[in-house]
This record gives sequence, structure tokens and C-alpha cells, in this order.
Amino acid sequence: MSKRESGRSSFSRDASAFLARPLEKALRLKPLLRPLLRKAAACCATAGLALALLSGARAAPPARDDFPASVPQGSLVIGQVAPGSTVRYAGRALRVTPAGAVVFGIGRDEAGPVRVDVSGRDGRSHPVAIAVRPREWPVERVVGVPPATVEPPPEIAERIRREQARVVAARDRDDARADFLETFVWPVAGRISGRFGNQRVYVANGKDVPKSPHSGMDIAAPQGTPIKAPASGLVTFADADLYLTGGTVLIDHGHGVSSNFLHLSRLDVKVGDRVEQGQVIGAVGKTGRATGPHLHWGLNWFDVRLDPLLLPGIEGT
Ligand SMILES: [Zn+2]
Repeated sequence: MSKRESGRSSFSRDASAFLARPLEKALRLKPLLRPLLRKAAACCATAGLALALLSGARAAPPARDDFPASVPQGSLVIGQVAPGSTVRYAGRALRVTPAGAVVFGIGRDEAGPVRVDVSGRDGRSHPVAIAVRPREWPVERVVGVPPATVEPPPEIAERIRREQARVVAARDRDDARADFLETFVWPVAGRISGRFGNQRVYVANGKDVPKSPHSGMDIAAPQGTPIKAPASGLVTFADADLYLTGGTVLIDHGHGVSSNFLHLSRLDVKVGDRVEQGQVIGAVGKTGRATGPHLHWGLNWFDVRLDPLLLPGIEGT
């Protein structure tokens, strides 16, 4: 499955439906085969399909895994497995939706190939390998932020640590909601003014200070521009005044996937609010460590930072 096909549309296919149709037909046409076919229905999809073919029913694709063969670094990956499967990736048991969708993230520095372990209802496990395509990470020099935000004094450094711990805790949830299957939309319209993953060097106190790579995508927009939820979800963090990120909102899209919105001038939501895609959650600002009004949009799978620009519906638009 290509990245572009990994949006909601591909999940209208339900693997069990492929199996059910020929089996139902076979059960009607071949009464003598019924006990055998019923037994097969509890078995794996391939055997079910083989029996359906033997009994003369129309051929249908078997239920099978559907993962992209390769993805770029920083990708949110949505895969499809037979409903009822269990799936493990990076030491975690992934949630599987009733229709068999799973999601996980490939970090900026992941070299790959990565391995996903899928176990069917029959308990048999098999690995799926996904190649990771390396990307270039240009160095970006940022001039004009207040030096105290680049080299904070100890009491400020302590405040930053406390605030970061609250954000990390909010990203740790693993809710059953599958809002991440929506095709994401841009939260504001505007020029991309900072790209995910770029190595950041801040110019402060007359020298270059290397910092962590840029953790999201910056979109330039006028102060006060309304910010829309790019996908539905639950507000799990909302604070108007964090030291580095200013007005900060997190929306949890389920299965560990979350968006964060930074430097807001106004917050229109609070923790616990359910927001629908397109709903206004706040306004663009330049609070925290920012050189001018813009929206920083970050995307996470738990603590793995991802590139929103690679999402189906965002890329190339
Ligand atoms: Zn940013």
C-alpha cells in the first residue's frame, strides 16, 4: 500500500468480507460441504479461500496484511491486518481496530528496515519488514529569538523540564479511538517556514548554539489566524503559557497518535474537550520561543516525533 492510499478510504475494505462472501455462497450451494466449510471459516483466510475456490464460488482476494514496502524517515504508518490479529512493533502491542487497522511511527533517525510482528487468530506469527528511506536534514540557523530562551538560567531550565514532563505524560495515552484514520487537513493555510527534522542552530549571545532537530512543521500565518483541528480527537493538554512553546494544545487522535500546536495567542479549548476535524481550537501567535507569528504543528506516535507533511492529505497540497 502506498502512503497516499493509507488514508481512510483504504479502510472501507474489510478483510473478513472477502472471505465471508464466497463462503456464504458455497454454504448455500453445497449442503454436503457445510460441516467442512464451517470448520474452515474458523481457520485462516487462505484456507477459506481455497475451499471457496474448490466449491466453485467466485474467486476473491485472501485476507492478508497490507503495509507499505518502504516509507521515508518521520512517517506515520497505517497498516491493515486480518481483524482479530495481534500486532507488535518496537516492543509495544499495537491496538488493532475492529476492521484490522494499525498505526505506528518511524522516527527521524530510524535507519530501518523495521520489523512488525503479526499473529493471526490461529496464533501463528510472521514478521513484516518495512524499508526506511533516508532523508536529508539541512542545518537551519535561527536568528532573533531572545537569548534567555536559548541558554536559560537554571531556574528557567527547571521550569522547562517540569513543563516538558507534563507534555510527555499527555502523549503517553493509548486510547481506542481511531480518529487518526481521518484524512488530515491543514490546520491553517500558509507558507511552510520551518521543516520537520532540520538541524537547528540558534544564534544567541554572539555564538551558534546547536539544539534538538526541529520537531514539527512551521506554517507562517498572521497573528490571530484561527487554527483548525487537522483531525478529530480529544484535547489532552492545554496551557496558555509554557516557557518555550507559549500557548500549547495537544489533541489525541487515538492509538498513541497526537498533534501538538505551539506558540498560540489564544486557546479556545480545554483539557477533556472532544474536537471534530475543522473545529477552531485557538489562534496563531508568537508566544514562547518564536521569532514571529506562525503555527508550529507537531505530530507524534507516543514519544516518536513525526513529519506532518508526510500525512496523506497534507503532502503535495
Ligand atoms: Zn516550530
